Amino acid sequence: MDNKVSVDGLTFVPYLTSAEIDREVKRVASELREDLKGKNPLFLCVLNGAFIFAADLFREVGLNNARINFVKYSSYEGTSSTGKVKEIMGLTEDIEGMDVVIVEDIVDTGLTASMMVSDLKKRNPRSIRFVTLLHKPESSKTGFVPDYVAFSIPPKFIIGYGLDLDGKVRNLKDIYVIDEE
Ligand code: 5GP
Repeated sequence: MDNKVSVDGLTFVPYLTSAEIDREVKRVASELREDLKGKNPLFLCVLNGAFIFAADLFREVGLNNARINFVKYSSYEGTSSTGKVKEIMGLTEDIEGMDVVIVEDIVDTGLTASMMVSDLKKRNPRSIRFVTLLHKPESSKTGFVPDYVAFSIPPKFIIGYGLDLDGKVRNLKDIYVIDEE
């Protein structure tokens, strides 16, 4: 694992290794596999940040009849939430009667998550499950609680494993936290 990462004048230090991520992805995947038994689920990957997590999780769940599609919302600029959630690429397919699994990278204020869930509920799916790689419970402004969480973390800005800083550093295999020293 690299010691420190510098990007756009900010320094990040190692936080979660790829081995730890792998272990938690496998744990969440086995819970989902159990809960989705006998169903034909539709995974919805929330772009851009969740693309790596969703790819790993979807393969690890390993259900041949599961499908995946992609939606896109945006609320962040730089290292903080703007408080406004924009739908950039919505869902075009019909999800009525389906078992939907939303896959998100991180739940921070919970604004994106609660907006998505209430939006999708209007389309009458049979069920909605919300999976997130990371959850910052102390940042919640909505009381939204994800159904599956790989890691609960303090309210600090993190990057890597799909999570960006202004579009960069999504490639990092480990997760890094902003160095506040
Ligand atoms: P929320 O609507 O819950 O405030 O924010 C959700 C979105 O904000 C996430 O999907 C993610 O794109 C972005 N976000 C929140 N916290 C972080 C963070 O620590 N690092 C990065 N890179 N993005 C974050």
